[in-house]
Amino acid sequence: MQQMKLPAHLQSSWQQLGIAPEVLQQKSLCVFAEATELVDVETTFDGRVWQLTPEAADAWLRMQAAADADGITLKIASAYRASSRQVELIQRKLDLGQQIADILQVLAPPGCSEHHTGRAVDIYQPGGPVVEEAFETTSAYAWLSQHAATFGFTLSFPRNNAYGYVYEPWHWCYQSN
Ligand SMILES: [Zn+2]
Repeated sequence: MQQMKLPAHLQSSWQQLGIAPEVLQQKSLCVFAEATELVDVETTFDGRVWQLTPEAADAWLRMQAAADADGITLKIASAYRASSRQVELIQRKLDLGQQIADILQVLAPPGCSEHHTGRAVDIYQPGGPVVEEAFETTSAYAWLSQHAATFGFTLSFPRNNAYGYVYEPWHWCYQSN
């Protein structure tokens, strides 16, 4: 699933965004293979469909149901994302005048986002903070801390993680075995 070398098809998008190839080693990043098989998991109020791999989708739905039974509603803020989409997200921030080094603290370079795998989900609780550190103060986060591992989901970016990313209490990844 992971490799340490930047594949040729990503080199041009990195160059276009001004990301040096050395960033891969400097930040100890991995290149993730993009999911090839995806299923629809959740549709947002504005008609956007979130997808995960069949295995991750199954685990997510079981975890969501278990949380629901405990009175906790878990919703998806982001799931599968293609590397081409990652290019768009970074480009949008560059267009707003942000520096690439700052952008890379919150967004992975194309090819290096766990969301490419179709196994990562950004989770929120309706009415609560979305993709913000304050998510850790929600009852949803407390529930996940206690139960997510049972369903195969782990927190990818704890405080002071080795990748130089900000702390992401909302980002959980299903680890296939
Ligand atoms: Zn995420």
